[in-house]
Amino acid sequence: MTKYVYTFGGKTAEGNASMKNELGGKGANLAEMCLLKLPVPAGLTITTECCTAYYQNNCQLPAGLMDEVHAGMKNMEAIMGMKYGDPENPLLVSCRSGARKSMPGMMDTVLNIGLCSKTIPGLIKKTNNPRFVYDSYRRLIMMYADVVMEKAEGIEPADGKSIRKQLDDMLDAYKEAKGYKSDTELKAEELQQLAEDFKVRIKEVLGTEFPDDAEAQLEGGIKAVFKSWNGKKAISYRRIEGIPDDWGTAVNVQTMVFGNMGEGSATGVAFTRNPATGDNQFYGEWLINAQGEDVVAGIRTPNPLNDDTKNEQNKHMQSMQELMPETYKELCEVRRILEENYHDMLDIEFTIQDGKLYMLQCRVGKRTGVAALTMALDMLKEGLIDEKEVVMRLTPEQLDELLHPILDAADEKKHTVIAKGLPAGPGGAVGKIALTSEKAKEYRAAKVANILVREETNPEDVEGMRAADGILTARGGMTSHAALVARGWGKCCIVGCDAVKIDLEKGIVKIGDKQFKEGDIISLNGSKGWVYEEPVGMINATENPLFQQFMALVDKYRKMGVRTNADNPEDAQNAVNFGAEGIGLFRIEHMFYGKNSEEPLAKLRNMILANTTEERVAALAELEPYIKNAAKGTLKVLNGKPLTFRLMDPPLHEFVPHTEEKQKALAKERGITFEEIKKRIDALNEVNPMMGLRGVRLGIVYPEITETQFRALFQATAELMTEGFDPHLEIMVPLTINVKELEHQKVIADRVKKEVEAKFGVEINYLYGTMIEIPRATLVADKIASVAQFFSFGTNDLTQMTFGFSRDDVNAIVKDYIEEKIIPADPFNTLDQEGVGQLVNLGVQRGRSQRANLKCGVCGEHGGDPASVRFFYKAGLNYVSCSPFRVPVARLAAAQAAIEEERAK
Ligand code: ADP
Ligand code: MG
Ligand code: MG
Repeated sequence: MTKYVYTFGGKTAEGNASMKNELGGKGANLAEMCLLKLPVPAGLTITTECCTAYYQNNCQLPAGLMDEVHAGMKNMEAIMGMKYGDPENPLLVSCRSGARKSMPGMMDTVLNIGLCSKTIPGLIKKTNNPRFVYDSYRRLIMMYADVVMEKAEGIEPADGKSIRKQLDDMLDAYKEAKGYKSDTELKAEELQQLAEDFKVRIKEVLGTEFPDDAEAQLEGGIKAVFKSWNGKKAISYRRIEGIPDDWGTAVNVQTMVFGNMGEGSATGVAFTRNPATGDNQFYGEWLINAQGEDVVAGIRTPNPLNDDTKNEQNKHMQSMQELMPETYKELCEVRRILEENYHDMLDIEFTIQDGKLYMLQCRVGKRTGVAALTMALDMLKEGLIDEKEVVMRLTPEQLDELLHPILDAADEKKHTVIAKGLPAGPGGAVGKIALTSEKAKEYRAAKVANILVREETNPEDVEGMRAADGILTARGGMTSHAALVARGWGKCCIVGCDAVKIDLEKGIVKIGDKQFKEGDIISLNGSKGWVYEEPVGMINATENPLFQQFMALVDKYRKMGVRTNADNPEDAQNAVNFGAEGIGLFRIEHMFYGKNSEEPLAKLRNMILANTTEERVAALAELEPYIKNAAKGTLKVLNGKPLTFRLMDPPLHEFVPHTEEKQKALAKERGITFEEIKKRIDALNEVNPMMGLRGVRLGIVYPEITETQFRALFQATAELMTEGFDPHLEIMVPLTINVKELEHQKVIADRVKKEVEAKFGVEINYLYGTMIEIPRATLVADKIASVAQFFSFGTNDLTQMTFGFSRDDVNAIVKDYIEEKIIPADPFNTLDQEGVGQLVNLGVQRGRSQRANLKCGVCGEHGGDPASVRFFYKAGLNYVSCSPFRVPVARLAAAQAAIEEERAK
């Protein structure tokens, strides 16, 4: 029989931290904390496998599960000295969700399970605290109605009509009628009355009774947690994070401990280091006389844990360090033990019941890119981790985030701060105000920078938060769920900004004494928590010395080269500053677009529209100096580093005008008739230009075109050599299908090279290679390698031709394909390892079977995609080439691939 239930408690456990797949993160770590002898209320974990069985079984618990649970409960009862459902000495439990990967706030938890008319009197007698008992009871009713009776039943109430909202409103109305500000002012009888009113309302709205039976509550709770795996917000979070739907969640049934027993009780959340900056300071928030969810839900503004956590918003509030110094010390010791065991920053939940500390959760904490960087280097110094682990500690996404813009401090000084909140997620954001998630998504779809402004941080908003460039909320603390989520994504986020007053009906928001409409622009400094009313300038954050230090470690363990795609001296310099070791793709056609392109473009057009070979040769002669200068300028910047020059690739019709108006102008300029021009341009038209006269085919049909490029390149090289530079030229033939093409072009190259060498009296060394971007080329790669000295996989075209997907038109199809799960991801973003990947492997193997030292690289967009980079490393490529800004990310991905390979051995 499958074992579905694992117990923990009493300083021992059946599971441990390595069992996340079976027990979920929460369950595995609760077990681990028991093994570390930390104070954890006893409990049991029902496996994720059971969740899968539950779904396969038509949403029925597997037979015998409840017996297993009861056996586990016996163990808990023995450890805790209480009994579930007992009238005198009742044990209460929570039913907590917990997936393999943490999904903060996305699934459900119910507290205080087991309170019913049979157990309430006994608990009152035992605790002598009726207020506490009825506070727990009304909380149970609220959570149970919401999670078990409504959500798990698949009931979808109209906006603002959810049972949770209705009960919350009743609570607020009750407080208001009594003139109370805080929940803690409510008295026992009042809470008892509220609980009765709640039950009546629940019956009215949902048509069923709140179960007055401990056993029914327990089973309901377990099922509801399983069901919450398929709740709406959980599903959208999984989609964004790429978590498979079939993982399932575990359920933790755990003895309740109470932070709401009075002034000696409390609950809190903390990070063992600052998750926003990475500073080595214990960082947390807590609330006296409250239950856990109060802190994370952002209902009350929490108190700071200690001096290090004080800020503008909470500095007047008392810290745990001040109020409960002994327990605080104990908690600091827990922090030390956990970091020493996990070698990482942890996010913890704790509760203090009548002065006694209990640990309720720990997990490796989400952090911003800056924090990840700071912590990793600190932990290296502290001896907690080694250099390789430092390299593994930043995800490529977090590194990318470090390269992202922040508000320009100089420009910031020129603006006035209109409001201050808590700096929950760093960096800067400037954008239009969106008051709903819908609006944020709409802006995102239209590529409009936007800032989601909300009353509170609500996990239902995940998609809107994702779509926003920045997030600003009126309520919530640094550890509220949304702050966690935003930070996990490295998103600029300010929470708890109480100067924000939203009027959704009117579509306006007041921030301090300024009023804004949806669509107005504001700026956020997420690192400080400051809000500005106008757009503030942004800058890049790369000059951080820690960044440099980290990248030095990355390069120490990296084995594959990283080059860049660049076509001018500025981009090349930029990329070299980012650590590029050369250019993997120089596209000469870029000199015909944009700045300073008029003159060369005019010459190119003369060439394209030439009637005879003589005319074409003459036009090319005029074009040659431009090509030479373009190559020379960049080769000079690279001095000593290789530059891969790709011969002209695109179909020629891309360079001639297509509107009648422009064609007329061109005709006039060239002194011929419009009809004549039109005829020549029409003659260039192809039905499938991507598969037409382009790439090496141009050079075969018009050899003079490649001849000109060869001459320009060899001259640039020779001139630089005589000027004392060290040019490393690599010439790359695009769109090759067989070796004959390469031979044909090589004859021209050899002849021109000799001529130039004779003229300059130098000997030119260069590499002659080809792109591999047509499936056929990978099949005959061995023959191609007899001439080509290097291969560069052009994975954009290779993907296009392998899938038969047109790169320029395929977006709509790909979107549907991903939605329908026909393909896992856009193959133009991340390499299709299953299919295109095989061709890459084949090309490398066949090529090297002919020429053992064949240099292989990749120059498609995939060169900057971390998952693809890992694949290319395994395929044995010598380098990847990507756009300048992706260079650091590619370096990191390459280093991580090398370390992973070593670890797998
Ligand atoms: P989430 O994954 O959303 O954080 P949790 O299962 O951690 O959900 O529970 C929500 C809150 O309830 C947390 O603050 C947690 O500490 C608290 N909590 C859960 N179980 C218990 C328990 N047995 N005793 C006291 N508090 C609990
Ligand atoms: Mg939790
Ligand atoms: Mg191509």
